[in-house]
Amino acid sequence: MRLLCEEINIANPISQFWLEDSGEHAINHLMISTSCKEIYRQVIEQAKLASKFAYCPYSKYPVGAAVITFDGQIYTGCNVENCGYTQTIHAEQTAMTKAISEGALKRALAAGLSQLEFIEAIAVYAPKGSDSWPCCNCRQSLNEFGLEMNVIGEDGSGSIVSKKLSELIPHAFPMESVLAAVFGADWQKAAYQGVSTVLTSEKKKTGGKRRKLVEAAKEASTMAYCPYSDYPVGAAILTFDDQIYTGCNVENCGYTQTIHAEQTALAKAVSEGALQRACDAGLSQFEFIKSIAVYAPKGAKPWPSCNGRQALNEFGLQMQVIGENSKGTIMCKKLKELIPYPFPMKEVLASIHRASPKT
Ligand SMILES: [Zn+2]
Repeated sequence: MRLLCEEINIANPISQFWLEDSGEHAINHLMISTSCKEIYRQVIEQAKLASKFAYCPYSKYPVGAAVITFDGQIYTGCNVENCGYTQTIHAEQTAMTKAISEGALKRALAAGLSQLEFIEAIAVYAPKGSDSWPCCNCRQSLNEFGLEMNVIGEDGSGSIVSKKLSELIPHAFPMESVLAAVFGADWQKAAYQGVSTVLTSEKKKTGGKRRKLVEAAKEASTMAYCPYSDYPVGAAILTFDDQIYTGCNVENCGYTQTIHAEQTALAKAVSEGALQRACDAGLSQFEFIKSIAVYAPKGAKPWPSCNGRQALNEFGLQMQVIGENSKGTIMCKKLKELIPYPFPMKEVLASIHRASPKT
């Protein structure tokens, strides 16, 4: 594998760990028998597919991304914009937070790797762009998880290009020093583990749809990466077609790049085609989410932060926001009750002469 990687001059070959994998996941078989270049081609193709689901009415600049983790799993994402702009989630952030919320970081730590080793490579693809390198916001997001990862894409002629993240961030912000300031010299062990121990509420197996959604949010909160706040949050979205998409918060030493649990779940739903499916079914973007459950094991009340509310505002005030109070009782409000006098995103959309970007 190492030799094959050198063949295309990729500095950071796929982990030996992949080769030792017993083949639990089908894709690993494929990786063992193919060269690094072919693997990277697959990852880039996944990023291309993801770009088709981009929600980008403001920039009209779709982007897709795909992360390949240490164990050969691929997680894709697209950009999901917001009329508040600040709440926009970039494709790379969607892919990365999806990987974490689906347990990739936990698996890496269980395998004896650090958080700086769990992403092998990330592919970025912008159909309207001539260059594939991520914006600086995303570089900072990725900086949290190691400068050794490869950032890959295609050049104008369709050839694979690859650079280490360290090449894209000379003189990087020292996240290791920030984590050391928080946790001391042993930060590598402390930064992520411990999250699961704060889950105080027992999982309840019975109950209706609302209970099921709250339990999915609880489960997602155990994946949270929150070394700075030590306040894990999980979220679970129920779409119009009864699919559930979960997310957790993923913090960043640059703070601004922190992605909230509601945003992770939302970006995952959009990037996995839920919004597209709704539009194909004749629904508007304001109808694709039925409800969202939010759960914070250290919180007494389930309501999302204003940042999370604004992220959801883009997709309709009729959705239900569900959670459980400290006594374990299910609580429910419509989003519009949580956002009196909302920012008028429909007027913003109308002002760009595009009432519904997906239709
Ligand atoms: Zn970006």
